Amino acid sequence: MVATGSTRGSWVESLTVGIVGVGAVGAAAASAITLQGVATDVLLVDADRDRAEAEAADISHATPFTAPVRLRAAGIEQLGPCRVVVITAGAAQRPGESRLDLTGRNAAILGEIAPRVLAAAPNAVLLVATNPVDLMTLVVHRLAGDAGVPGGHVFGTGTMLDTARFRQVIAARVGLDPQHVHGYVVGEHGDSEVPVWSSLDVGGRPLLEICGALGVPWGPEHQREVEDEVIHAAARIIAGKGATAFGVAAAISRTVRVVVRGQRSILTVSAWDEDAGCAYSLPRLVTDAGVVRTVGIALDDAERERLAASAEILRRSADGL
Ligand code: NAD
Repeated sequence: MVATGSTRGSWVESLTVGIVGVGAVGAAAASAITLQGVATDVLLVDADRDRAEAEAADISHATPFTAPVRLRAAGIEQLGPCRVVVITAGAAQRPGESRLDLTGRNAAILGEIAPRVLAAAPNAVLLVATNPVDLMTLVVHRLAGDAGVPGGHVFGTGTMLDTARFRQVIAARVGLDPQHVHGYVVGEHGDSEVPVWSSLDVGGRPLLEICGALGVPWGPEHQREVEDEVIHAAARIIAGKGATAFGVAAAISRTVRVVVRGQRSILTVSAWDEDAGCAYSLPRLVTDAGVVRTVGIALDDAERERLAASAEILRRSADGL
């Protein structure tokens, strides 16, 4: 950390975060980071400099009501002071498109951006959000390896958003605070993702037990409805408003906080997985050094098969990257 200023002798440590790609997701992430006071400085980089400057000004105007965060537009070459750089640049899904449809376009964009980010900020942790996030994490992971950056420094938001959706949808149906729902979605951030029911815990109890205690009816049809709601959430939101932004922005802000504070949190982030031969999400331990360990999760046979199928889709999609 760098001490940047003092008020009559009390030094304030600066915590700089960079965001490359200040579209719907990048701007919402910058806003979430600002509202939650996660950083002292946020550098906004976009191919459209006017847009980055406008978002920096707009979000800055929230700071009298929140935390004294300094935001400014910057170039990639100015990302040196960043502890974390979030990459959200690239094309987003249009209605009817899957995330995997974006692969070629966004691999080209990240192939151009990532080496410059790695050169400018070789010690930063890189958090990839651009879709398809598992394949884009793999692209940046490989480039980081070429640049001699530790593998754990590069990871993607993966199924953090899907995990949040899973928790929120179950909580709403059971009628509880989502923070009581401890459940995970693993695998691809996409159509083959796997909601893990077998180890789901709600308020310290298995789902069926808590539903019984609360008098909430629960059966296989409810499970199917929740899966559909979670897995197809993005498509429905994109059909309605053209993009998803606030959920992933909160996931980005939370992850940045975990890294800058060295919180040692278990998050379903996407990272290169030697055993699976792809980058995908499992519960992983995240610290100030990025991903330091895969914690894993207990799965039943059906979930294990679905996870293997998800990895296979990602391995095949990575061919030719
Ligand atoms: P957007 O079109 O609103 O913004 C993309 C931004 O990237 C634009 O401002 C564009 O100018 C910028 N950009 C493009 N090429 C660039 C370059 N070479 N250098 C710098 N900036 C560049 O899109 P969005 O809705 O913000 O989505 C961004 C990405 O995030 C998409 O790939 C989308 O699918 C993905 N996304 C991921 C999640 C997740 O959970 N991981 C959720 C939602 C969206």
